Amino acid sequence: MTTATIGFISLGCPKATVDSERILTQLKAEGYVVSDSYADADLVIVNTCGFIESAVAESLEAITEALAENGRVIVTGCLGTRAKELQEQFPQLIAVTGPQDRPAVMAAVHAQAPPAHAPFYQLLPPGGIKLTPRHYAYLKISEGCNHQCTFCIIPSLRGRLVSRQPAAVLAEARALVEAGVRELLVVSQDTSAYGIDSRSRVTPLHEARRAHLTNLTRALGELGAWVRLHYVYPYPHVDELIPLMCEGNLLPYLDVPFQHANSRILRLMKRPASGEDNLERISSWRCACPDLTLRSTFIVGFPGETEAEFEELLDFLQAAQLDRVGCFAYSPVAGAAANALPDPLPLAVREARCERLMAVQAEISAQRLTRRIGKRYTVLVDEAATWGAVARSSAESPGVDGVVRIADAPDLVPGELAEVEITGADQHDLTARLVSATPEQELRA
Ligand code: SF4
Repeated sequence: MTTATIGFISLGCPKATVDSERILTQLKAEGYVVSDSYADADLVIVNTCGFIESAVAESLEAITEALAENGRVIVTGCLGTRAKELQEQFPQLIAVTGPQDRPAVMAAVHAQAPPAHAPFYQLLPPGGIKLTPRHYAYLKISEGCNHQCTFCIIPSLRGRLVSRQPAAVLAEARALVEAGVRELLVVSQDTSAYGIDSRSRVTPLHEARRAHLTNLTRALGELGAWVRLHYVYPYPHVDELIPLMCEGNLLPYLDVPFQHANSRILRLMKRPASGEDNLERISSWRCACPDLTLRSTFIVGFPGETEAEFEELLDFLQAAQLDRVGCFAYSPVAGAAANALPDPLPLAVREARCERLMAVQAEISAQRLTRRIGKRYTVLVDEAATWGAVARSSAESPGVDGVVRIADAPDLVPGELAEVEITGADQHDLTARLVSATPEQELRA
């Protein structure tokens, strides 16, 4: 029996990427060949996203293309929760499963293309199959979400919060670090809620083993890799993480999706921690950890958002002086509660507000980046080029923030750490010169 080849398309957020990695790891473990070409594949798996309408459209397009080019397609992921609709639209699909359902995906693969031989688990890399470069990896610490943000359908797609056991997270992280990962990107729907679901189940005897974000991040920090937190809501207990950043256990970086600043809009959005004084919290975090980088995302043009409420958000940005910001013009998602809110805004208004917000933030970002000129940083190299290297410091997360370009450093290789001095900046990126060789470079010399 010959080895079957599986085509794989991975769409969506880092949480979906982790699901893809788990399926790919299982496929490889069972001896399947994974291909990025439709023509070579015996069948194609499409891991879809259903977060916003543009993501739904992209997923539908990927399914259409896979069916046209190959014809044997399994759909998984967030859009898979709308199985009936998908099967009506694409009756030729082999199977449709929801997110985090690797067993169902594998069962569909087995039915179509049984594995050719016994698994050779020992041939797998210790960290499993990764879609990220070898030197960084996403680490998903929980699934699902207990919130009910009115613009979001993730809880209905992915279910309620289920935190992974700390021992399982640490074992995965240790395997990744042993496989060469130098940066762990902690992700979930709500990282600050990690462990909240298990509190009621814990007896005093098991207290030391309970899922707790501070304990988990401290233990992750002891593995020797960079640890970066994404999707952290501004709850008071997040303050406990700041000392870990000052001590060097955790990168001084927080990705806090504030989404808005006006209290009425935040209440309409039903945002977690919407009653907190976020400016005061930002100020106290920066006071305790002056090197802290803050990233956030915002939604503008939410139903009923007035010009004054939007301008309050612009004022918040000026006061908060966030380092990195992403912005979305509100877009209704099928099934979201916000669709029923009165006074939806025209698309042109939503998009214009998005552009205005990004223009305000571009100036803030440029000023903040300019202040880094002359300072020295340890950076992690992502790419090597003939002219030098592309790297990131603690202040830049891959894929969402800017980069540090190091000219005249052609010997750097991806995954290496280097010491650099910042020499220039624009609104997003920095340029730098190499200050000192890394231990890896000295070994190669
Ligand atoms: S916190 Fe809100 S936006 Fe994030 S996944 Fe949960 S419901 Fe959706």
